[in-house]
Amino acid sequence: MTDARPGLHRPFARRETEFRPSPVRAVFELAMDPAYVSLAGGNPDTGLLPTAEVADLSAQLLRERGAEILQYGSGAGADALREAVVHLMAQTGSAVSGADVLATTGSQMGLDLVTKLFCDPGDVVIAEGPTYVGAMGVFGSYEVDLRQVPVDDAGMDPDQLAGVLDAERAAGRTVRFVYVIPHHQNPSGVTLTAERRRRVVEVCAARDVLVLEDDPYAFVGFPGNDPLPSLHSLHPEGVVHLGSMSKLFAPGLRVGWIVAPPELRARLQLAGEAVDIHPSALSQEVAAAWVTGPRWRPVLDAQRAVYAERCRVLLDALGREMPPGVHWTEPSGGFFTWLTLPGVPPGTDLLGAAIEQRLVLVPGDACFVDPPPTRHVRLAFSSGSDADLIEGARRLGAMVRAVQA
Ligand code: PMP
Repeated sequence: MTDARPGLHRPFARRETEFRPSPVRAVFELAMDPAYVSLAGGNPDTGLLPTAEVADLSAQLLRERGAEILQYGSGAGADALREAVVHLMAQTGSAVSGADVLATTGSQMGLDLVTKLFCDPGDVVIAEGPTYVGAMGVFGSYEVDLRQVPVDDAGMDPDQLAGVLDAERAAGRTVRFVYVIPHHQNPSGVTLTAERRRRVVEVCAARDVLVLEDDPYAFVGFPGNDPLPSLHSLHPEGVVHLGSMSKLFAPGLRVGWIVAPPELRARLQLAGEAVDIHPSALSQEVAAAWVTGPRWRPVLDAQRAVYAERCRVLLDALGREMPPGVHWTEPSGGFFTWLTLPGVPPGTDLLGAAIEQRLVLVPGDACFVDPPPTRHVRLAFSSGSDADLIEGARRLGAMVRAVQA
């Protein structure tokens, strides 16, 4: 496409082609239509958000410290938020200080800043296969060459990771970091086991490769599934950690954080100040007050119980509705399960087939650079009613039968 305006021989930068609608946002309107059942969006349930309490908290913060909160603040983030992060990270075994924490506008921004700081076009990043589509969009925008290491029911396979790292090095390519989503992974729902956490960290440390740990689901394990030690806790100098308030509190506030050694944190801060000067002070203050206050735990624990129950409802319905041979993961928390659909011919349009059944989901191909021949879909159970989950599984069963050869 050319642009007729004078002086614009080339309308956009090369990276423009990498900005595509996410598979979730592309179907957002259909997902809102009551004729459709949506198992697409990985959102916290709107009805479980503590809106009235947050309204009171915000009013109180503005009354008591309004002038400070409405003014420009520090590029590193509000002190209260950084202290709250110190307290949260301690619960996943990481001993950090406020100086190690950089506030971000959601962990999506953390992904962007880390990639921007480390990656030149053509540099290699290694991720899980499948991985988070939103991270793939970031890597693409910096022209990263993404490789993927398969995930099984215990998470990323460290032996295969070692093999890929060694092959890249032997081919003379620079691997800038290994991107891992360790708890209740998006999209697979799988948690990296404690043993594999140690192995992944060892494999990377032995080769002097940085780990980028993206851990927004750490605190949304089902009841009885508290977070495992973070990769950061195992090797603080070799791991940059991304956290987020989106799943443990409220995504609309857009508050996340990066934990990195102080010198690196300062460089990331400069990169961040060039983007947004600093994240919203009001959002940071509200998030900090909420997660250090008395109501966070009981509200979160109630949400975790609801998600566990919804997951059970969905998996039971899949057990009734799926044709033989279909496999799904058994999450211990988070928002997603990941299905493997054997016998679906290559090239079949899974989203189109789902829409024919008035069902919205995320087709698995979006989560791979080179999609494997066996097809997958991601289903979210976090925000659907029991009736939606059961009806969604029924429609999915009809869809799978329609597309299987
Ligand atoms: N990383 C992963 C693995 C995610 O699933 C998400 C949200 N879907 C994000 C990052 C971005 O989250 P945030 O709202 O904190 O920007």
